[in-house]
Amino acid sequence: MIALREGGNLPPLLYYHRVAPEADPDTGPVPEVFDRQMGLLKFLGFRGVSLREALTASPSDSAGMIGITFDDGYEDNYEWAAPILEKYGFRGTIFCVTGVLGQKTAWAEDPRWVGHPLMTPGQARELSRRGFEIAAHSRTHPDLTTLSGKELEDEVSGSRRELEDLLGEPVVTFCYPYGFYNEETKEEARKAGYLAARSTRRMTPGKGELQFDLPARSISGEMSLARFALTVAGYRLMEELRNPVAPVWASGEGR
Ligand SMILES: [Zn+2]
Repeated sequence: MIALREGGNLPPLLYYHRVAPEADPDTGPVPEVFDRQMGLLKFLGFRGVSLREALTASPSDSAGMIGITFDDGYEDNYEWAAPILEKYGFRGTIFCVTGVLGQKTAWAEDPRWVGHPLMTPGQARELSRRGFEIAAHSRTHPDLTTLSGKELEDEVSGSRRELEDLLGEPVVTFCYPYGFYNEETKEEARKAGYLAARSTRRMTPGKGELQFDLPARSISGEMSLARFALTVAGYRLMEELRNPVAPVWASGEGR
């Protein structure tokens, strides 16, 4: 049984969509930039982890964690992002749209988001075996706030069931398509048995009561490395301020 950590602060969460050489900057960084971002996290003493790990690690293990998440389950996450994360000893969470695995994105009207290959069931299973969290992002990527009853349940619970059948392990986190949610969708995610659900609300590191409304910072290909560095250095600083290390002189050592 996977349980949410009691107390403690929620580690910062980042979210990406694509990581590909041909990615439109709005949809994500190119692999070289993603690589430099992950290198910078490592340099700052962060450990990139899945949302599941970020939420369930003991308070002592959670120091320095940052959740790296990806929406939609693009095939390029398998091809480019996962190997880069592994190079730094990192992992992450990939939120998949379970009804269209192995197909191409067709839910958006904006051409920048249409026609991109989504990872296949086999690729999702392989990443899960390699330590990535494969999590649910609905069955067909609708605006959940327009649904109710059976349709809403089918998207929220149905995607969990489909993934659990595919992966043979519990699926514990969910991400709202387009970041759209309301009280009803939050309640549905809770009812479906998820531990937590991520939104696209801007990150302000806080406590665990935001369980079905987890904030995260969007990282597009338009963000400069300097801005990325300042953002994550800010998270690091906040963590340091919350958990100040006692100075050596305070312990009496070295006298
Ligand atoms: Zn999405």
